[in-house]
Amino acid sequence: MPIFEYRCSACDNNFEELVLGSQTVVCPECKSEKIEKQMSSFAATGKSSSAIAPCGKSPKDCGSSGFG
Ligand SMILES: [Zn+2]
Repeated sequence: MPIFEYRCSACDNNFEELVLGSQTVVCPECKSEKIEKQMSSFAATGKSSSAIAPCGKSPKDCGSSGFG
């Protein structure tokens, strides 16, 4: 969902807003349009590191031979 984080320049209020299309976002506190769009942390998604299998090979090469 396109939820963005904003910070109001007028009252220094931080808030999140669901933005659909090009609607105007205003501060819920003071109704000011002088807001700054914040960078959400979840936007920067990193690739999950490859799993290291106990056998030293890729997980599929280890198979399902149980070690207990
Ligand atoms: Zn405000």
